[in-house]
Amino acid sequence: MRIAVASGKGGAGKTSLVSSLAPVWERPLLLVDADVEAPNLHLFLHPEISREEAVTLPVPELNAEACTLCGRCREICSYKAIAKLGRRLKIFGDMCHGCGGCFAVCPANALRQGFRELGTLSEGSASGRSFLMGRTRIGEAMTPPLLRALLRRASDLARGGDTLIDCPPGVSCPAMTVVQRADLVLLAAEPTPFGFHDFTLAVRAFSRAKAPLAVVMNRAKMPGNEAGDAQLRDFCRSRGLPLLAEVPFSRTAAEYGAQGGRLCDISEDWHGLFAALAQRLRKEGVRS
Ligand code: SF4
Ligand code: SF4
Repeated sequence: MRIAVASGKGGAGKTSLVSSLAPVWERPLLLVDADVEAPNLHLFLHPEISREEAVTLPVPELNAEACTLCGRCREICSYKAIAKLGRRLKIFGDMCHGCGGCFAVCPANALRQGFRELGTLSEGSASGRSFLMGRTRIGEAMTPPLLRALLRRASDLARGGDTLIDCPPGVSCPAMTVVQRADLVLLAAEPTPFGFHDFTLAVRAFSRAKAPLAVVMNRAKMPGNEAGDAQLRDFCRSRGLPLLAEVPFSRTAAEYGAQGGRLCDISEDWHGLFAALAQRLRKEGVRS
């Protein structure tokens, strides 16, 4: 079972949930940090990294001597990565999406294959669990191809066990890339006005994927925010979304998190909360 832990906005608690579910999960588990623009699951799990691999995209390089300036490559490129500047052809490798169209139409064989590094995959283990992390190269704007490579590697490493994925935040292309390949999506939702608004956007966006949705309310029972909690519960009830747990707002939890601690380690009660969540999550996954 592959579970994507997602959210409508950053800071809703995805990484806290994944890091605290890891030690209480009762089956073999692969932990994946797919928040490739700002991965931070390793800060809570302290994995030993045993393998690193660069992920690249094939991009064209010009052999100017062979080029006849016919313009066919420029016409087919939907991403405007090829331009004609006077009597010269210019390829903007950072804008290339690696579709291969220009190679296919060049009549003079004037393009050879180069590579652009998109980022790296790091794998290893953390407290007996397999661990995999993607990290975008600084300056790289395109993440979906790196995420697809990450998820392919995750399929190899899962070996029949379960996979918990810390998704990119929000409802943009990177998050959708992961959610579309999940069996179940667990949404971390905050009962604040901003958090609730973005949670409803996430429900709308991710409902289009094939995977069923479930919800954890994070920072519940904030003093003076009873209406926010009630609004989130009512919304889940009205949409038929299972609300699997309510993680209470707590200064201790905030301090633990700020120091790289896992919430499940705060006390026996907190450990029990995440053990119960893991069981409910597995039941939801089996049902789906
Ligand atoms: S591979 Fe595709 S995206 Fe890249 S330059 Fe060629 S046509 Fe454009
Ligand atoms: S299609 Fe080939 S020959 Fe024509 S402009 Fe592009 S690189 Fe040059």
